[in-house]
Amino acid sequence: MPAVSSPSGRSGDDRCPGALRAHQAADGLLVRVRIPGGRLDVPQLRRLAAAARQHADGTLELTSRGNVQLRGIPAADEVNRVAAVLVASGLLPSATHETVRNIVASPLSGLDSGGHLDVRPLVTAVDAALCATADLAELSGRFLVALDDGRGDVAALGADLCWTAGTGALLLAGRDVGLRVAGDEVAAAMVAAARAFLHRRAGRRDVWRIADLPEAVGAIVAALGGPHTEPADPRGPHADPVNPPRGPHAGPVGPPRAGRHAGPVGPPRVGPHPAGFVVAAAPLGRLTATQAEAVAELAGGPVVVTPWRTIVVVGLPAVTMPGLVETGLIVDPASPWIGVTACTGRPGCGSALADVRADATAALAAAGPSAAGALPLHWAGCDRCCGRPAAPAAIVVATAAGYRVAGHREEHHGPLPKRVAQARSRA
Ligand code: SF4
Repeated sequence: MPAVSSPSGRSGDDRCPGALRAHQAADGLLVRVRIPGGRLDVPQLRRLAAAARQHADGTLELTSRGNVQLRGIPAADEVNRVAAVLVASGLLPSATHETVRNIVASPLSGLDSGGHLDVRPLVTAVDAALCATADLAELSGRFLVALDDGRGDVAALGADLCWTAGTGALLLAGRDVGLRVAGDEVAAAMVAAARAFLHRRAGRRDVWRIADLPEAVGAIVAALGGPHTEPADPRGPHADPVNPPRGPHAGPVGPPRAGRHAGPVGPPRVGPHPAGFVVAAAPLGRLTATQAEAVAELAGGPVVVTPWRTIVVVGLPAVTMPGLVETGLIVDPASPWIGVTACTGRPGCGSALADVRADATAALAAAGPSAAGALPLHWAGCDRCCGRPAAPAAIVVATAAGYRVAGHREEHHGPLPKRVAQARSRA
């Protein structure tokens, strides 16, 4: 029988959902499937689509860590059936460590020439090393490991541990504290760092991430034999509950962007790429089973789920693009849907004050094609702002009276983006 949890406060254990630890939501049970590096082979994608159709609400939710959620599962027996599918697919290799396998990697690594190194083998190595270390099962389900191939994309996500190819920097809580690790030592260094964090945490189960325990930085640096150049507080001076500082502007020492590929940091551009793949977006990060099955038919290799709720589909764009468009996925980089995300909202979340997905859809439809915005836009059903982007974003938050719009670190005072004006006018 799977464990079933409800939302956790910071007073106790992390109850982040997993494949075997279902979360009880208002619309049924929810399971989260960890997908290291976001990489799914075609049979795995087909089986996930079938599981969503047969045992859940028919949708694969793409998360901000490149994982997948199934929701609307009616009973615990169905969770067991989903788990059986995952085991048969190779997506649940460890019952004890399943919630610990939070590994993001540069999604285009090995697919184009944008990085210094193909980090895909490192994803496999780090995953295996985490799962093989018994005490690391104690890590929170929110502890995040990142492998950046040097282009600086996932280094901007503020992971607890992030290794960057090219510089060899091992960032702690998004900060460069002077640690340098060779490529063939990354897995061992990640394990040592995670163990040092757990040791320093000393059993405090309300401490989930390195940023929760600033003194852990020094302990990790010491465990890895590095220099003591860590900042006093890895959250830096700009801590902000709405838009926590992450990425290259997070503080005085940001993730390394040096090297021959230094340039704008950001998610892979939606659309066709000459290297032979297409980046497609699922509206509001929800991939229907039908869409997933269509992608499985079109893909010429593993599909990558990115931390920006897009998917990378390998194959000649001239061949795959028509099918992706036909199934309702977005491949136009100018689409107003690009950069728009939403939490669950009503009816799936009992805390929601609005059906944010329906309102976001209506606002985009009303605003039309001109609604594309420069800033990511996240709709949230309450002040918790679940699923907000790591990068600076406008946040549209439901209130008892309608919606308010918050900008980066402060209330939004400028003209409302067109794509939220419709929702605001309902207030
Ligand atoms: S932000 Fe959204 S998903 Fe999170 S608790 Fe509020 S309504 Fe629920």
